[in-house]
Amino acid sequence: MSTSPGAGNGYCDCRFCGARLRHTFVDLGMSPLCQTHIAPEQLNHMEPFYPLRAYVCHECFLVQLEEYVAPGDIFGDYAYFSSYADSWVEHARRYAEAMTRRRGRGAHSRVVEIASNDGYLLQHFVRAGIPVLGVEPAANVAQVAVEKGIPTTVRFFGRDTARAIASETGQADLLLGNNVLAHVPGLNDFVAGMQILLKPRGVITMEFPHLYRLMERNQFDTIYHEHFSYFSFFTVEKVFAAHGLTIFDVEELDTHGGSLRIFARHADNGALPVVPAVAALRRRELDEGFARLETYAAFAEQVRETKRAILEFLIGAKRTGKTIAGYGAPGKGNTLLNYCGIRQDFLDYTVDRSPYKQGKFTPGTRIPILAPERIRETRPDYVFVLPWNLLDEIAGQMSYIREWGGKFVVPIPRVRVL
Ligand SMILES: [Zn+2]
Repeated sequence: MSTSPGAGNGYCDCRFCGARLRHTFVDLGMSPLCQTHIAPEQLNHMEPFYPLRAYVCHECFLVQLEEYVAPGDIFGDYAYFSSYADSWVEHARRYAEAMTRRRGRGAHSRVVEIASNDGYLLQHFVRAGIPVLGVEPAANVAQVAVEKGIPTTVRFFGRDTARAIASETGQADLLLGNNVLAHVPGLNDFVAGMQILLKPRGVITMEFPHLYRLMERNQFDTIYHEHFSYFSFFTVEKVFAAHGLTIFDVEELDTHGGSLRIFARHADNGALPVVPAVAALRRRELDEGFARLETYAAFAEQVRETKRAILEFLIGAKRTGKTIAGYGAPGKGNTLLNYCGIRQDFLDYTVDRSPYKQGKFTPGTRIPILAPERIRETRPDYVFVLPWNLLDEIAGQMSYIREWGGKFVVPIPRVRVL
């Protein structure tokens, strides 16, 4: 595993191009790791907090965090199970269908997914009779996939894992990874590994949040320690090109507040021409200044103003005697709650569908995480929605709060009462 040279000395270098990082993108203060939910018996213990400061590289414009914590500590026993979000499972089903029908993957193809989580996506290929392999670093999450009949190996991905899988089971026709590229500290080792594991005529697809949308839609709360890199399209193109891979198609998706799905192949595979969408998106980013430092510099003040507006709403609601419950305990909620200093002084509790989180407390802010039924019992005036990307799904499930005049509050991109 690679670490940033100089990490811990107050200096760090770009994890892609190696340039010394000098420009802060946004500084969100000190924050605990977003998935370290606190068990009741830990309530009297101290918690580690780490700086949450994002930099932008003046050479390649990769927005990134320094690596403070080894991924083994973050992902060894991870509490995120993809299958608990209905809309995400449906997104995965549509993707699998598109890749098997339109792109002609069949029983002769081999699908490998990196960071396959609990098998929420590969299960669709398994049902279609396509051989699959999941690669998942969190043993507890991989175990759930194996129990569902999805072959899964517990490993971090990089050059070594790629060579091992290639020799054990062969290269991949379709190599995919959703919401993993941003979570990789050793970015170059990871992309080089994909190049190794891909068949000469194979296709890579990856999905990751688009930095363009993060900035446009003010999604500062998607910055957390586990999320090391934030990509514009033209920067990710450079990263792939440096490892002999060409991005030949790109789609813009609504997932996670605005993501990219890129399609890549070996640079020398001319059978798959580069479609016009690639140059068009690159042009749009360059036209909007994504290769100029000033574009990034304005973001920090926008974030500070967002904090003031969120606190203004919460203070006003409490002064008029309103009750507020949270919805969700996602990673992004952790950043928002800690950065804004929102604890039980504002939110009585929060709820989450995942039984792995229920009965615990949010990291740092120590807000109790309960089962969603609690909202019906306590009838809060406001439900403060932390996973704003799932707002429609949550508003549908919780529409009964209208019975007592309850309203939803969404903090991002700006405070809205619905
Ligand atoms: Zn760089």
